[in-house]
Amino acid sequence: MDFPIFPMRQIHLDFHTPPSIPDVGAEWDADHFVRTLTEARVNSITVFAKCHHGMNYYPSKIGPVHPSLKFDLLGEQVEALHRSGIRAPIYISVVWDVSAAERHPEWRQVSKDGKLVGPGPLEAGWPYLCVNNGYADELVAQTEELMALYDCDGFFYDILMYNGDGCVCTNCLAELRREGLDPQNAAHRRAHNHAVARRFMERVSGVIRAKLPNAGIYYNSRWGLHFQDEVQHYSQVEIESLPTGGWGYGFYPLWSRYGRNFGLPMLGMTGRFHRTWADWGGLKHPDALRWECGGIVATGGAVSIGDQLHPRGRLNEAVYDVIGEAFRDVEAVEEYCIGAEAASQVGLLVLNPNADKANMDAQAGNVEGAAKILLELHHQFDVITDKTCPDFRRYELLVLPDRAVATPETAARLRDYVAGGGKLLITHEALLDETSGSFLLADEMGVDYSGPATSNPDYFQVTAPSLHTTVTRPGFPYSLYEGPTAHVAPRSGTEILADAYETYFNRTGEHFISHGFTPPIAEKADYPAVTRRGDIVYIYGPIFSAYQKHGNLAFRALVGRCLDLLLPQPLVETDAPPTCEVGVMRQDDGDRHVVHFVNYHAGRRAPGHVEVLETPVPLQDVALRLRRTGTVSRIFLARSGEALPFEASSDGFCVTIPRIDTHEAVVFE
Ligand SMILES: [Zn+2]
Repeated sequence: MDFPIFPMRQIHLDFHTPPSIPDVGAEWDADHFVRTLTEARVNSITVFAKCHHGMNYYPSKIGPVHPSLKFDLLGEQVEALHRSGIRAPIYISVVWDVSAAERHPEWRQVSKDGKLVGPGPLEAGWPYLCVNNGYADELVAQTEELMALYDCDGFFYDILMYNGDGCVCTNCLAELRREGLDPQNAAHRRAHNHAVARRFMERVSGVIRAKLPNAGIYYNSRWGLHFQDEVQHYSQVEIESLPTGGWGYGFYPLWSRYGRNFGLPMLGMTGRFHRTWADWGGLKHPDALRWECGGIVATGGAVSIGDQLHPRGRLNEAVYDVIGEAFRDVEAVEEYCIGAEAASQVGLLVLNPNADKANMDAQAGNVEGAAKILLELHHQFDVITDKTCPDFRRYELLVLPDRAVATPETAARLRDYVAGGGKLLITHEALLDETSGSFLLADEMGVDYSGPATSNPDYFQVTAPSLHTTVTRPGFPYSLYEGPTAHVAPRSGTEILADAYETYFNRTGEHFISHGFTPPIAEKADYPAVTRRGDIVYIYGPIFSAYQKHGNLAFRALVGRCLDLLLPQPLVETDAPPTCEVGVMRQDDGDRHVVHFVNYHAGRRAPGHVEVLETPVPLQDVALRLRRTGTVSRIFLARSGEALPFEASSDGFCVTIPRIDTHEAVVFE
């Protein structure tokens, strides 16, 4: 079937069922299936051809059909869904397949110490298969078989991922050597695995597109910065992110701001579970799903909610009561979400030559911390790299958080950007050239790098009145806790906004004072902590990773005031609290702006406790200023249609939102 618009309300219906389970599909009732989905306002659902156990749920001639399944479950699902106008992409497990691993042990991934990747023979879990062998042929044949049997809307290939240390199965090892790569080198092994996976994707996507040029295609479990190197094989972006299932509530807001820049439809995937996949006994509070859906549509994403079908084949109505509550909420605003693009003023520029992992810099947390600060300050930003953003001038300001390894070409682009009026916030060792030991933009920044500070930790004291706040007070020495900071020498004409202070000594067994920290000495250090030259502000320490790790509000306030100096006219201003995410989207070539508020719960959580959301605390009379040009005839709430009185001035449009529960969208037309 042809679905002209990417469906906003999707389900990912897991169905992993080993051969030992009896009566698979025994309670299948097509009418109940589609009625339950329709009542829950679902308009797309991913159904299973083959699961992690390697069982197929249709009369396949390629792999084993589940032994207790007596009919074509997949075929009946697709047929019933299409009859009801619901899209039905098809799921195929790739790297995890118990049956294929048993039938073809030689297809398994092999780690560098010679072990088959996955659990041991007596343990529960999924064996990892390599796709550099006949298994790829089997998966291609299965794809062709499915396209011949059914009206296929799309395919979801799950778990296309390699053991982090790289596969050295017989085929991979021979190929590594043949291609002049060093099998002893972990980076070479990983690069080779990427090449193998991309060869597989190119082949599979080619087979699909030859027959179904408009089919959806997604390869899961590969998400990360390296997406930019393989985007051509995909038809959409799907960000798997179950906030209470290990990803946390920070993953999607960060990664969606990267994933939305490829010109493809984007899907944010959460789950109905209390914890993670296969949590048969956990069902989320509908309020939590409302927040998660609001957070997804506020970034321009469609929503996918994960569920798992019981082996007997009947959907649980209580689950779809909960999902229905959330999807009715989405449906009420989706007219103002479909086809929208982000109105971003700030680019969070990630320059990381080691892009083959999902977590951009797991140890540092610099990108995560920067995203958290920008979200809490309500700045409108995208996460970009030099590859995904061909023209930095799309953004008024770029943030380079703590570390950024730039090529000479990218450094030249940044110089042009600054010369053309672009603004930069650079922190710590970002843009440091490791070979020369100097900043690539030292002339523009007006500071020279001398090396790491010897005092660790050290302190900073804000001197510029424009940077003083409730938590960055004059006369108080704050510490980033993380060091060493950078010892930099300001050039003449560079403005110093904060001083640095060294301590008496670094804490060691030979000399220490008190519990943990050494106090600052009275005289300020011979290096500054914050400087400004033109439209570039530089902060000497890893303030973004320090915020991610320590959560000191002084760090956020300092960054916020530096951004205010550079960007005195932010796209939105609001008195909504930092826990409330604000996302500005544009529709109709910018004639319509939609400002989303996601009023996250400011609940107090004990360590180790899952972040559970329930019962919104409404925000009342939230002030909003949107700086957009052109005329605005009407401002109204997307959900209720209620018109809001507003004031127009040369400095934008001001409005007061009477109440925000979980999510509200304000339309400027
Ligand atoms: Zn291999």
